[in-house]
Amino acid sequence: MKFDSLIIGGGVAGLSCAIRCAEAGLKTAVIAAGQSALHFSSGSIDVLSHLPDGQPVANPFRAFDALKAQSPEHPYSKLGSETTREALAWYQATMEKRGVYLTAQDDDSNHFRVTPMGTFRSTWLSQQTVHQFSLTDVAAGLNKIALVTIDGFRDFQPQLAADNLAKLPQFKDVAIKTAAVELPDFDNMQRNPCEFRSIDVSRVLRDESKLHAFAKSMIHQVGQADLVILPAMFGNGDGAATIKLLEGLTGYKICEIPTMPPSLLGIRIEEAMKSHFKALGGLILSGDEVRKGDFENGVLKRIYTKNHHDMPLTANHYLIASGSFFSRGMSAQRHKVEEPVFGLDMTDLPHRDHWYQSQFFAKQSHPFLKMGVTCNAQLQPSINNQRISNLYCAGALLAHYDPVFEGCGSGVAISTGYYVAEQMIAAQNSNQTTEEKQQERTIA
Ligand SMILES: Cc1cc2nc3c(=O)[nH]c(=O)nc-3n(C[C@H](O)[C@H](O)[C@H](O)COP(=O)(O)OP(=O)(O)OC[C@H]3O[C@@H](n4cnc5c(N)ncnc54)[C@H](O)[C@@H]3O)c2cc1C
Repeated sequence: MKFDSLIIGGGVAGLSCAIRCAEAGLKTAVIAAGQSALHFSSGSIDVLSHLPDGQPVANPFRAFDALKAQSPEHPYSKLGSETTREALAWYQATMEKRGVYLTAQDDDSNHFRVTPMGTFRSTWLSQQTVHQFSLTDVAAGLNKIALVTIDGFRDFQPQLAADNLAKLPQFKDVAIKTAAVELPDFDNMQRNPCEFRSIDVSRVLRDESKLHAFAKSMIHQVGQADLVILPAMFGNGDGAATIKLLEGLTGYKICEIPTMPPSLLGIRIEEAMKSHFKALGGLILSGDEVRKGDFENGVLKRIYTKNHHDMPLTANHYLIASGSFFSRGMSAQRHKVEEPVFGLDMTDLPHRDHWYQSQFFAKQSHPFLKMGVTCNAQLQPSINNQRISNLYCAGALLAHYDPVFEGCGSGVAISTGYYVAEQMIAAQNSNQTTEEKQQERTIA
């Protein structure tokens, strides 16, 4: 099978690249071995919350110069703020086509989203059903809030979140109420104590009569509130519409917060991206895994997958966006870290004692989180110092940044995926022009 572009990895980086290529008319396929980090994510897009030295960032794009000074090899330092902005604007517009509205604050600054623990995390884009708390005045406009869960649901504990919120000086004048609303069918659903996750709840609440019963019970228990916070448990693709309906039924302003995995807010993003890619004619080989590739003179010629080991796949351009340790894009042994598919060149490895900080919640980044594949300015990797001209890297596999500490995971994944796609599109167009010119010469 021959493609214009082949993408290894079905996370946000791989899918961003794949969608952009398919939009430009490139015959594109994605090979995705397993679930992506989106199943664990808040579904908000972090762009840059902290500089590598720990300084908090209010406006990500205004901090790009400071970031480059501290971390010249950071993926954003290679792309620059203009390309990153362009990529994120394209992403917002693309997701909007699928009914996922991702917005930032009007002044382009970060906002806080509340976590299931009742703490705040800074992010840049959130879905329409997520409440954006201001960085400068977290409790602005709130006198009474309610944290509501479903009775028996283990993946969100409102009392814990309420206790943490109440400790914040900004919330000292805000009344915080918690409630556990009964879900119709709860007893029938719970076949075993572990089987009551957000995805199970979403199936029940899709039934309008059950949603009505839930709304009635919620009004009864909550009373008056400026904001009702619920765990994300509404639909995969149509969750936002269900919340709108619930707002209409109750009269409350309702927002969602991510739960323990599976995170429906993250899955919503993945579903939207995959369906958009397929609608553009793209092909996804789910559950398949790239095992190796053949290289000739610095060019990747073909790749072999678990399911197609005797029928290699070929393309003009390849992207590897197989994620970090978490998604098995990188693997670690006692004294070695490697990229297991092609054996791409990685960052220099310190002694194992220096792979992590002694404190889990350290004030500095854990060094292992910045390990990854080293690339040139075009995000092309090398093997034994030989550059591979038609292979690119994007997302969490890249070295020199820490998605957790710096709060930049999805921002880097989207922008590097987009940046690679633009190069693939330009190369494809220039190849076509050369071929057309050759044909014209032959005819003449
Ligand atoms: C627990 C957790 C929570 C996070 N929360 C947030 C958040 O709230 N907001 C935010 O902005 N960022 C968050 N991040 C960071 C962000 O999600 C990641 O940086 C980003 O999603 C990485 O995307 P990716 O496409 O590079 O990799 P991944 O999402 O890891 O995807 C890699 C894909 O490649 C596949 N793969 C691996 N090897 C192969 C192979 N050989 N062949 C084929 N496929 C292969 C994997 O199965 C997977 O589908 C979080 C990260 C984690 C781990």
